[in-house]
Amino acid sequence: MDKRGRVFSGARPTGRQHLGNYLGAIRNYVGFQDEYDCVYCVVDLHALTTLEDTSKLKEWTREMTLDWLAAGIRAEETILFVQSHVPQVTELHTILSMVTPLGWLTRLPTFKEKVRQQPDNVNYGLVGYPVLMASDIVLYKADVVPVGVDQAPHLEFTREIVRRFNHTFGEVLVEPQARHTEFTKVLGIDGEAKMSKSLNNHIEIASTPEEIWDRVRVMVTDPARQFRRDPGHPEVCNVFSLHRFFSAAEVAQIEADCRSAAIGCVECKKKFAANLGSYFAPFRERRARFAADPDYVWDVLGDGARRACAIADETLGEVKAAVGLP
Ligand code: SF4
Repeated sequence: MDKRGRVFSGARPTGRQHLGNYLGAIRNYVGFQDEYDCVYCVVDLHALTTLEDTSKLKEWTREMTLDWLAAGIRAEETILFVQSHVPQVTELHTILSMVTPLGWLTRLPTFKEKVRQQPDNVNYGLVGYPVLMASDIVLYKADVVPVGVDQAPHLEFTREIVRRFNHTFGEVLVEPQARHTEFTKVLGIDGEAKMSKSLNNHIEIASTPEEIWDRVRVMVTDPARQFRRDPGHPEVCNVFSLHRFFSAAEVAQIEADCRSAAIGCVECKKKFAANLGSYFAPFRERRARFAADPDYVWDVLGDGARRACAIADETLGEVKAAVGLP
C-alpha cells in the first residue's frame, strides 16, 4: 500500500504501560502503520530533564518496548529506537538552539509549569526541551506528527523553528504537519485523576486476569449508587466509560441494566474485568513470547537505531552544509 509520508512520535520510558497509555497513544501508533512510514522513539534524554532517579531507565525502556511490540508495533517495517542511541539528535539540537530566541522558550506555558513543579531543579535541559523535541521531529524528516488538542502548540513551536532555520539558511528542513488525533483521556481507578503510574491509580495492560480483578474490584463507580437497588448513572461512572472500549457489543445493555438497577456494580465490574482480560489475552501471549528472549527488545531497538541513524546522518549533513560548518 502507498504510504502518505512519514510520521514521528516519541514517548518517555515509563515502564509497563497502562490503559491510559494504550487508549491514549499505543493503539493510534499501531493504526498509523497502515497509513504512514512510522518512526517511534523512546525519548530517554527527555526523561532526564525531570527524573531524579535514573536507575530504572533501562528496565523501563525494555518494559515499555515489550508492551509496544506486543500491542502491534511491527518492528520489521516501523523504525523503533531509543533517542540516545542516535546521538545526532543532540548535535542538531545545538545547531537549532542557535536560531531559537531564549524568550520563546522561557515564555512557554509548559516551561512555566515545570518551574512550578520542580523549583529546585530548573535545569538548562528543561529550557531547551522544546528544541530537543523539534530536533527529534526534523532529524527524521517527519511529514506528520500526531497531536492531541492540548499538544498543538508544541508542534507549532517546532514549525516556527523550522521556518526560522529555512528562512536563514535555505529550504533544508521539512515543516511537519499536525495530524489531529483523538488522544482519549482515561481516568484512574479512583475515578477522579487521569490514569497515571505515579498516582498508583492505573491498570497495566500486561496484568494477569487476577491482577486485573484486584484493580477493577476497587474502582470507584457512581457515588450516588449506595445500595444494589439504587438506579445507577453510567454517565458519571468510570467503569462504564471503559466498558465502551472493552465491552462494545454489550454496552447498550449494560447502560440499560445500570439505569434500572438490573445489574449491580460488583457484577458489572466482573463483566468488565473479564472483557478486559479477554481483550488483552493475545497481547499477553505475544508479550510473554517476546520477553522470553532477553535479547529480543535490544535487537529490535538496535536495528531501529541503525535505520534511524541513516536518516539522521543525511539530515545532519544537509543542515551542516546549509549552515556553512566546515
Ligand atoms: S452498574 Fe456498572 S456502570 Fe452502573 S454504576 Fe455500577 S459499575 Fe458503573
